[in-house]
Amino acid sequence: MNIRELFNNGRTVFSMEVFPPKKHDPVSEIFSTLNGLAGLDPDFISCTYGAGGNPADTSTIDICREISEKFGTPAVAHFTCVNNSRTDIDTAVENFRAAGISNVLALRGDISDKTPPKDDFRYASELITYLKQKAPYITISAACYPETHPDSPSVVSDILHMKEKEECGAEHFISQLFFNNEDFYTFREKTLIAGIKSPIEAGIMPVTSKAGILRMVSMCGASIPKKLSRILNRYENDELALRDACIAYAIDQINDLIANDVDGIHLYTMNKPEIAQRVYSAVKNLL
Ligand code: FAD
Repeated sequence: MNIRELFNNGRTVFSMEVFPPKKHDPVSEIFSTLNGLAGLDPDFISCTYGAGGNPADTSTIDICREISEKFGTPAVAHFTCVNNSRTDIDTAVENFRAAGISNVLALRGDISDKTPPKDDFRYASELITYLKQKAPYITISAACYPETHPDSPSVVSDILHMKEKEECGAEHFISQLFFNNEDFYTFREKTLIAGIKSPIEAGIMPVTSKAGILRMVSMCGASIPKKLSRILNRYENDELALRDACIAYAIDQINDLIANDVDGIHLYTMNKPEIAQRVYSAVKNLL
């Protein structure tokens, strides 16, 4: 199924994201996560691709095949280019084809000191152009940043490069996580002014620990509004209370986004189906 079509029927799309098990964790872990999530019947589930881009690692593809074949849920495979050569990408395209994957979130990937980037693809737009030529049947999604990508010199530059991704063939965007909906609305207005027409899903992460969220925002540059900061400070030593308060915060964010006609909600599940379930059951009648 082409996931772009999900946005044609006038309701709010609700999707979820998982990541492959860590290197030393049993693969079976992801199956119980998928069992829990697929039962909620999301519009699609996406699976991340390990940073550092190892072309021999097919776990993302294997998990996406499982999502669509076993659970009948459309799957989106994340894929990054900065650590992959043209030959690596040709191999990945062949693997997508063999696994029946036709929806890909095409990304640059983070540039790290540990793994120097390869030369063939510098930006997601170059990957998108290449995928469109090599495998035109693939529906391409791309990432966007309500608070601007941390490497970008300006908001304008970042939004123009987002538009470039659409012009190269991206048909749908998923946003970086954010905690202040006003940031998303301001960003959405700017994308409209720039002439971007593809649907944009809002990335929402129900946080479950203060340390976890601080680590996450230091990597992605999202800001923590005062209201959330007060919650984190008040309940930092009370795991259950923190979890409940943060789930309520995420539900509030989603209610407001739906009331403001967001195209879709993309829930960063952190492989915790019980939390996804609580969020989803609170909003499912609003979608
Ligand atoms: P790009 O769109 O290439 O942009 C990167 C930077 O370069 C931006 O600052 C942009 O403004 C700038 N830029 C773009 N084009 C040009 C140009 N032509 N000239 C000059 N500057 C330019 N990472 C993973 O490793 N695995 C994942 O599975 C994964 N999933 C993600 C899912 C989502 C929804 C999001 C939001 C991010 C995800 N990431 C993932 C992180 C992502 O790889 C990083 O944010 C990365 O730093 C940027 O990727 P991009 O595709 O947005 O890059």
